[in-house]
Amino acid sequence: MAVIITDSCICCAACIDECPVEAIVDEDDNPTGEEIYYVYSDKCVECVGYHDTPACAEACPTEGCIVWGDCADGATCKEDVPAEARAERTPVIED
Ligand code: SF4
Ligand code: SF4
Repeated sequence: MAVIITDSCICCAACIDECPVEAIVDEDDNPTGEEIYYVYSDKCVECVGYHDTPACAEACPTEGCIVWGDCADGATCKEDVPAEARAERTPVIED
């Protein structure tokens, strides 16, 4: 499992320094080319062992931008999750 940043991201940079494992990159380094921040699924540990809840989602000022995602295996982890699939995920922080 890992979290996923959706296209609700406003590139505010609040999350990137909160990640204990440096799994987040900004829009300039997003491997998908999208103008949003990106979480490397093979690096994200969902903050287990570091925080009680995902620190990136706690820091994010938008609603539902950071969602839970599945990571079935190493190969899948390195691939982007299509926008349609991301839209169906559950927000990490819900109202
Ligand atoms: S959930 Fe934690 S480990 Fe994963 S990207 Fe967010 S801050 Fe980093
Ligand atoms: S905190 Fe949220 S809106 Fe800001 S850059 Fe990170 S994911 Fe995007």
